[in-house]
Amino acid sequence: MTAYHRPTDLTQALALLAGGNLCVAAGCTDLFPATTAKSLPGDVLDITAIAGLRGVTPVDGGWRIGAATTWSDLIAADLPPAFNGLKLAAREVGSVQIQNAGTIAGNLCTASPSGDGVPCLLTLDASVELCSSRGSRVLPLAEFLTGARRTARLADEMVSAILVPGYAGMGMGHFLKLGARKYLIIAIAMVAARLETDGELICRAAIAVGACSAVATRLPELEAALSGQRLAGCAELVTNELVGPRLSPIDDIRADQAYRRMAATELVRRALADLSHPERAAT
Ligand SMILES: Cc1cc2nc3c(=O)[nH]c(=O)nc-3n(C[C@H](O)[C@H](O)[C@H](O)COP(=O)(O)OP(=O)(O)OC[C@H]3O[C@@H](n4cnc5c(N)ncnc54)[C@H](O)[C@@H]3O)c2cc1C
Repeated sequence: MTAYHRPTDLTQALALLAGGNLCVAAGCTDLFPATTAKSLPGDVLDITAIAGLRGVTPVDGGWRIGAATTWSDLIAADLPPAFNGLKLAAREVGSVQIQNAGTIAGNLCTASPSGDGVPCLLTLDASVELCSSRGSRVLPLAEFLTGARRTARLADEMVSAILVPGYAGMGMGHFLKLGARKYLIIAIAMVAARLETDGELICRAAIAVGACSAVATRLPELEAALSGQRLAGCAELVTNELVGPRLSPIDDIRADQAYRRMAATELVRRALADLSHPERAAT
């Protein structure tokens, strides 16, 4: 017989996790499609009733996105334009019903190469807070994600929050996703970008591509090339050489490698062109 736990207290939840092999469940929008059974297999720890785990809160030095925060919560949150990319991504996750149930932390824990939250959070220099009855630790998102559908989470740990540092709240973010149709689609390629400007010049660029490698990746060479350049016309600086080497796309039913590479470069170009015309990049 399987057990279903829905604690209201974090300490209680961590004690349950320490005691056995439990499946952590949040919105279940990844967990249920992964099974053909009527109920989830194995013992379940539902984290959605734990007090204080839901919502986006400004904290000393940045923002805390609680592990039970849904995509809809994020869309409704009062956040600076640096989060525009994450909000745009949130609006493209499945449908409104999926956005109401699915959590951002669940998206990261699934660690799909095409998870929409990952590139946006990479451009926000996000970290993942993990906790267990042994204590807590914080990992940069790029270290938390160890491969396609693999994370650094240990069996007795749960993600308690996603942390965004205050300095990453500067500038304006954007997100573009290419799929075979507009909605309810797994991406062929996606791009998140955040640009900080000083007058007409770009002083810091953060750009990440998803669905074109096992784990979404930042593009440090392109970011360095953009730094100090004029915002107007910066899209023209994007070349295959500055985007391609960081990508390792696969061939699958949605697109082949060559198309994904071409699409990623073009999406980066379009994202930067939109950011040079902020009215186009607004959420
Ligand atoms: C119709 C449909 C359309 C979708 N469209 C998109 C899309 O466009 N883009 C996209 O990126 N995704 C999409 N998804 C996938 C899914 O909705 C998202 O990945 C969502 O964010 C998952 O969150 P969840 O809370 O439902 O996770 P769950 O299903 O509850 O959990 C997902 C995984 O994370 C683990 N987990 C969850 N929370 C924690 C935690 N706090 N600590 C440790 N482990 C945890 C679970 O054990 C499980 O392995 C879609 C899904 C459906 C069904």
